[in-house]
Amino acid sequence: MSFAFAPAPPVSLAVAGSEARFPVRRVYCVGRNYAEHVREMGGEVGRDPPFFFMKPADALVTDGRFPYPGSSSDVHHEIELVVALGPGATIFGHAVGLDMTRRDLQAAAKKLGRPWEVAKGFDHSAPIGAIVPAGEALASGAITLDVNGARRQAGDLSEMIWNVPEIIAELGRLFSLQPGDLIFTGTPSGVGPVARGDRLDAEIAGLGSLHVEVL
Ligand code: MN
Repeated sequence: MSFAFAPAPPVSLAVAGSEARFPVRRVYCVGRNYAEHVREMGGEVGRDPPFFFMKPADALVTDGRFPYPGSSSDVHHEIELVVALGPGATIFGHAVGLDMTRRDLQAAAKKLGRPWEVAKGFDHSAPIGAIVPAGEALASGAITLDVNGARRQAGDLSEMIWNVPEIIAELGRLFSLQPGDLIFTGTPSGVGPVARGDRLDAEIAGLGSLHVEVL
């Protein structure tokens, strides 16, 4: 088989303690999965259940360098637990991720009832750390984000509205989940803007930390 031009290289992530890399297929995301974040975004817990959206796999950033995107002056951080799926929709492992968001474009899209790709799926919108292998879902543990050493987001994985098994079950009703799929599971409260030169330190108990520089 020949290609009309060279295909894009496959996207993959480091796996802690292994030479083998995790080949990424799709990147699913959960919106509004922590009650305090639902409230800070103007929603009502119970009335506005979590939901799904996607980012392209090549939006993942693995070198800790996040270039401030164009077309926005209000780019927010959202720290999230990322679940990595293996064969049969089993849990292969977890990683620390950031769902970077052009909040101004998202607000405009919400107002007009338009889709979210320009707000959520832009290039470099998904910084992520190495996958830490695990046989079962992380159910609890601190999840925190500091910007330039100041705490901005703090929560616990146990505060998720849909826990990891529930997310996998819900998502599996809508899509055929495959090995290589990633799921960003939502962010706790405290989201806010970043600026060029900021240093983001994202940490989840048991997974270590992810350091990202805003360029
Ligand atoms: Mn998010």
